[in-house]
Amino acid sequence: MKRIFLLLVFLLNTVFLVGQTTYVHCGKLINTEKGTIENNKTIVIKSNKIDDVLDGFIKPNNKTDKLIDLKGKFVMPGLIDMHVHIENEFDAKTRLKRYILNEADIAFNSVGFAKTTLLKGFTTVRDLGGSGVNIAIRNAIDAGKIPGPRVFTAGKALATTGGHADPTNGSSRVLIGDPGPKEGVVNSVEDAKKAVRQRYKNGADCVKITATGGVLSVAKSGDNPQFTIEEVKAICDMAKDYGMHVAAHAHGDEGMRRAVLGGVKTIEHGTYMSEETMELMKKHDAYLVPTITAGKEVEEKAKIRGFYPAIVVPKALAVGPQIQGTFAKAYKKGVGIAFGTDAGVFKHGNNGKEFGYMVEAGMPAMETIQSATITNAKILKMENEIGQIKKGFYADIIAVDQNPLKNIETMENVDFVMKDGVVYK
Ligand SMILES: [Zn+2]
Repeated sequence: MKRIFLLLVFLLNTVFLVGQTTYVHCGKLINTEKGTIENNKTIVIKSNKIDDVLDGFIKPNNKTDKLIDLKGKFVMPGLIDMHVHIENEFDAKTRLKRYILNEADIAFNSVGFAKTTLLKGFTTVRDLGGSGVNIAIRNAIDAGKIPGPRVFTAGKALATTGGHADPTNGSSRVLIGDPGPKEGVVNSVEDAKKAVRQRYKNGADCVKITATGGVLSVAKSGDNPQFTIEEVKAICDMAKDYGMHVAAHAHGDEGMRRAVLGGVKTIEHGTYMSEETMELMKKHDAYLVPTITAGKEVEEKAKIRGFYPAIVVPKALAVGPQIQGTFAKAYKKGVGIAFGTDAGVFKHGNNGKEFGYMVEAGMPAMETIQSATITNAKILKMENEIGQIKKGFYADIIAVDQNPLKNIETMENVDFVMKDGVVYK
């Protein structure tokens, strides 16, 4: 009897919510398409979509309709971070975790990271690599089992043997083994094809390669090229067949050059990018994902004795301070900029700091917001669904207290979050 009663309540609620219209009164509304701030608007939401955006403050028609008052706020579309690691949060014990955590432990940790990210206003993220649990996290969020941003994930990143994303780097001989394409390690064109197909089979949305050495891997070089151009090309061609784009982690210029020529869509970090490579990126319509926040973090943490393994410290001290300067040059040169932070290298939820660092380096505040909305939506091929507050788009809406054009740090304190028509904050 009780069960039937609960079922009835559930059904009534569902019918009620589907029929409900939500009106959001916005004092200031950021139009990311035009790069303007509009006054006194009403967003009308039906189910999970924006039904209309009207002038003035329109009152609801029915008693069952809901009114949300954001008259005193700056309202904008939900933010998109193109570079997070939803499974991990780096700390001094990270190297050990690989050997002591089971998949279930990783999954439970991720639940908190996903929620934190969403509550900070990031309603969509691109996850660029973990153990593969990230695919299950995406599915759980999509199914409404846990709160979190919409996730586009690369699953496990691809590397070459000993490369930045080789999962057994720095392990003892007993554990080092010989991982192959299935584990995301490739050493030939054939391996590259298999690895991409395996990612597709596993359920990845995009592909991540580590085109050069990296800071936090236990390996000497932080910037050497780690793929041949033929391998990169094979990965990009194969990914295209499966409707996926390729993101390339890269600090060194030669690896970056090969990645862009091979067909990747985004360069992550871009630390030592030359002017020639910047021109190449413009020519090939590739975007730089700056991750300045991660650069600042590794520089700071490298100064704490014992936080990173000794081999990582000099790399962190060299690469960290360089990233913001390269971003400034690339932006000035007209390279497309896709907002992305590398959250997980630092604490999830601090993603909003990136806005301030971008503004500090010379990008106007409105353009940083456009980068985190319309630009990123376009790369994800979601430009008609997210990144704007417009009729027919998903109801992903956030609000901040202050004018971000006057105080960009307000982006770190998002105080209203709606995703898919559901209010989370
Ligand atoms: Zn990363």
